[in-house]
Amino acid sequence: MKKPVIAIDGYSSTGKSSISKVIADKLGLIHLDTGALYRGVTWFALQNCIDENGSIDLQKLFSSLDQIELEFRNNDGELILYLNHIDISKQIRTNEVSDNVSIVAKQKEVRDFLLHSQRSLAEKGGIIMDGRDIGTVVLPNADYKFFLTASIDERTNRRYFELESLGIQAEREQVKKNLIVRDKIDSEREIAPLKQAEDAIVIDNTNLTKDGTIDLILSHIKNI
Ligand code: C5P
Repeated sequence: MKKPVIAIDGYSSTGKSSISKVIADKLGLIHLDTGALYRGVTWFALQNCIDENGSIDLQKLFSSLDQIELEFRNNDGELILYLNHIDISKQIRTNEVSDNVSIVAKQKEVRDFLLHSQRSLAEKGGIIMDGRDIGTVVLPNADYKFFLTASIDERTNRRYFELESLGIQAEREQVKKNLIVRDKIDSEREIAPLKQAEDAIVIDNTNLTKDGTIDLILSHIKNI
């Protein structure tokens, strides 16, 4: 029997990736955190494509995309992102990457570059992919689609504690501002904006725990 293809989209820090990882383990699926790919391209740009003003030179990035090799390796069940064979799993969570990723992710060249590999990974089924445009653009024929949302204060708390656990210093107000700005750019961009697919199940998990959200998603998967 073909295993399902599951799309999880939603706002920043609604727990999409950590929830998808648990569901993947429970159902024996591959998990792809597509946000990590956009963060990986952004990290590459910050290292290699900076103009004299210290900003990302997008033209240089576009002409360098063929030098980017992103790969997930499995380390005891934990998927670690490698950029050109170097572990960048910690670097992609830095504030510097968070502050620049949405501008990089709104570029057509970058989205086209990442689209093909995301789709080909889903061809055999048995995958749960989380991001912003999975149910709408990357996998419009996914078997199950979910769209996660939560209040901005709850999401700020979650991201703040996540950064703290990674040993990354951050101000709560700065974290909140970054989430608001990213959600705005992600929702308003022309190509593949963050939006709920018409056939997605919407889950507001402001008052739900991570386990509660997982159980709710699994109940839908079993019921359909
Ligand atoms: O999921 P995460 O917060 O790590 O994603 C970082 C950024 O990557 C998002 O704010 C968005 O700009 C971009 N992204 C995207 N499309 C996806 C996944 C992430 O544009 N499918």
